[in-house]
Amino acid sequence: MDKKAMRDEAERLVREAMEKRSIVVKQGDTRIEATCGKCGAPNRVKAAKGVTRADFTCKECGHQQATL
Ligand SMILES: [Zn+2]
Repeated sequence: MDKKAMRDEAERLVREAMEKRSIVVKQGDTRIEATCGKCGAPNRVKAAKGVTRADFTCKECGHQQATL
């Protein structure tokens, strides 16, 4: 393997690693399993990464609340 091929291979690996990382960042949103405080229905709430409280509206009864 000549030097150019080795360099191309190294660049390819770096590019792949960066693409993988960007995918992880895209999937940074977390899903919180929340139970409605009014009717008890389970709700799946999407929240930004690092957010522990997310506002949501119950899909069953429409009650607006925040996850605990
Ligand atoms: Zn509810």
